[in-house]
Amino acid sequence: DGPRRCRRLEGETARAVLANADTLLFDCDGVLWRGETAVSGAAETLGRLAAAGKRLCYVTNNSGRTRAAYTEKLRRLGFPPAEPRHIFSSAFCAARYLRQALPPGAAAYVLGSPALAAELEAAPLDPAVRAVLVGFDEHFSYAKLCQALRYLLRGGPDCLLVGTNRDHRLPLEGGAGIPGTGCLVKAVETAAQREAFIVGKPNRFMFDCVASEFQVDPARTIMVGDRLDTDILMGNDCGLTTLLTLTGVTALDEVRGHQDSGCPARHSLVPDFYHRRPAPGTGGVTG
Ligand code: PLP
Ligand code: CA
Repeated sequence: DGPRRCRRLEGETARAVLANADTLLFDCDGVLWRGETAVSGAAETLGRLAAAGKRLCYVTNNSGRTRAAYTEKLRRLGFPPAEPRHIFSSAFCAARYLRQALPPGAAAYVLGSPALAAELEAAPLDPAVRAVLVGFDEHFSYAKLCQALRYLLRGGPDCLLVGTNRDHRLPLEGGAGIPGTGCLVKAVETAAQREAFIVGKPNRFMFDCVASEFQVDPARTIMVGDRLDTDILMGNDCGLTTLLTLTGVTALDEVRGHQDSGCPARHSLVPDFYHRRPAPGTGGVTG
């Protein structure tokens, strides 16, 4: 097919692409909302997709909320009703990864939010720590870093090192940002001189979690995201149709830069489509 070219999703193409899909995976921050404010038109669009019988799942690298908190946030912001089993957060997926990877009765040392610990508690573990799990932790400290290193040195290769995601920065309004979980994972990796297994996007583990829960055909699945190096890269790697919204961190110039680079690795960052809401009053397809 040659390198992927990103096209605007509109008109006949939009109808055909949607008709061919039965599942849509939505990134959350930057696509559905920014902070506590819903992205304009997003709730209405998802409402129409749900009414058309599409399966909607949510894939977020944010490890700071439980699945139940996500269903509540979706409800509060006017999105169609979702059940916890439709939410694939890096906290839930990390707990799932550890359940699969650890022997029965093993425990994890968690650097993260209460939500990350809560997802893990769904599987009871005894105090024998066999994994260090790093998520978003506003109270990350040198003492915790020391403790993580102690476990990793004590267990050697038998102690797993797992990170929820590598987002380097969380964008705030006006070009500001705060350090993301990637910074914390790097600190532990540097101390331990080991590479962590990363649960979140762009790793395909998150898509595999969706696929193990629901019958999903990658060829009939659309990944909707605002970030090229997480959402779009995962979608392309998993053979999904990828759709970039321009409501979050990525501008179209970045896509063009990758597309025109002639570099095959950068072509994996190019979405199949981008979506831009038509200007008001132009009568185009909205949402
Ligand atoms: N990690 C944290 C701690 C966040 O607060 C956010 C966004 O709010 C993200 C990651 C990115 O989440 P998403 O994958 O939904 O864009
Ligand atoms: Ca996002």
